Amino acid sequence: MYLTVDGTTRFRAYGPRQLDEIARRYPLPDAARETVRLLSRVLPFRVNEYVLSELVDWTQVPDDPVYQLVFPQHGMLDEDDTAALRRLAGRRDGDPEVVAAVRAIRARLNPHPGGQQELNVPRDDSGPVPGLQHKYRETVLYFPGQGQTCHAYCTYCFRWAQFVGDAELRFAAPGPQELIRYLRGHPEVTDVLVTGGDPMVMTSARLRAHLEPLLEVPTVRTVRIGTKSPAYWPQRYVSDADADDVLRLFERVVASGRTLAVMAHFSHPRELATPLAQRALERIRRTGAVVYCQAPLIGHVNDSADTWSALWRAELAAGCVPYYMFVARDTGPHAYYRVPLARAVDVYQGAYRELPGLARTVRGPVMSTTLGKAVVDGVEELPEGRYFRLRLLQARDPRLVGRPFRAPWSATAAWFDELRPDAGGDDALRAALASGGAARTEALR
Ligand code: SF4
Repeated sequence: MYLTVDGTTRFRAYGPRQLDEIARRYPLPDAARETVRLLSRVLPFRVNEYVLSELVDWTQVPDDPVYQLVFPQHGMLDEDDTAALRRLAGRRDGDPEVVAAVRAIRARLNPHPGGQQELNVPRDDSGPVPGLQHKYRETVLYFPGQGQTCHAYCTYCFRWAQFVGDAELRFAAPGPQELIRYLRGHPEVTDVLVTGGDPMVMTSARLRAHLEPLLEVPTVRTVRIGTKSPAYWPQRYVSDADADDVLRLFERVVASGRTLAVMAHFSHPRELATPLAQRALERIRRTGAVVYCQAPLIGHVNDSADTWSALWRAELAAGCVPYYMFVARDTGPHAYYRVPLARAVDVYQGAYRELPGLARTVRGPVMSTTLGKAVVDGVEELPEGRYFRLRLLQARDPRLVGRPFRAPWSATAAWFDELRPDAGGDDALRAALASGGAARTEALR
């Protein structure tokens, strides 16, 4: 089934150019193939043999959740934009009219939600530091330049701008030198999240070149790696030519006294069900790394309490820690997969109630807003009306962490800026809400 080289399986990505090849081997309907061809000019499309053969249930296409997860669907772009792409379908990618149309559509899809480019990029004496984001006092996000693709792309990806070949939209650091310099000047940063794309697309040698310098900075205590590789390409830890070397690198980070947190992105319980995924998680955990699991709640993919309950139970059974249920960000084809917050609370609570205590490490539904990570703790009925009860789990201004607030309940709101948050008598929180959460703290300057 996979490409076999010396008894191992070798990774190969399929994109829009391989659609005919995919259709020859899997029952991809003609209309779906044309939709992917059309939409993938705007929305990145990438899949691999493991996802196609082990994760997609082709008997359920097009409703199959993993199919919805990786194949762009009709309805993900609005009718006008779809029609514009259809008119240009016969033209080549480099045609100036195609380039202009694609760029205009992408600009309307909010490529950098949450003020990532304007607010999160740190500056030093020589200007913005490339390939870093520093939003929360103790955590820096690091985007190694060679780790800005993934083993497959999620249609809902909030980092899709990383993949579309536009340098202006992309975060990418050529090497760790600037990061290390920044960390030495910011001892308050204890956690570095190495992210992408997916850093685990890098060879072990490249990954080592990015990770080992971190171990020379004594104030860094936790190294996190954001990855969907255990779901999309578990071979990374089992049978890739350098799989053992990756695990030795993990061991080296742990042996340095750091916590190594693999922030694994699992969207659906099926992704944990294969023997390869189980083996990958077992091998990662044996290195001493801790696997934390997170994913957004997505229409057409995982919008039911039963799915989340099964997902969190499977994570616990694999020795991992259920961590976050996110609300999908307001970017890309958000209109297609948005789940109203009222429904998100029901899904979260319905699933949470079914869990054994040890899986109740999970938090959600959480929105990563400009202000910080806002969790919807529930809905309350008061004499003056029905409200969402919210709280900041993390905040650009650390003084705001943990403070509760509320917003009038809405049946349709699916993101923070569709709410009317009310901080009551909390002046600092009210000011932060009024500024759109943009105020940076002295600690981050
Ligand atoms: S794995 Fe993460 S970064 Fe990659 S496409 Fe999916 S959501 Fe985006």
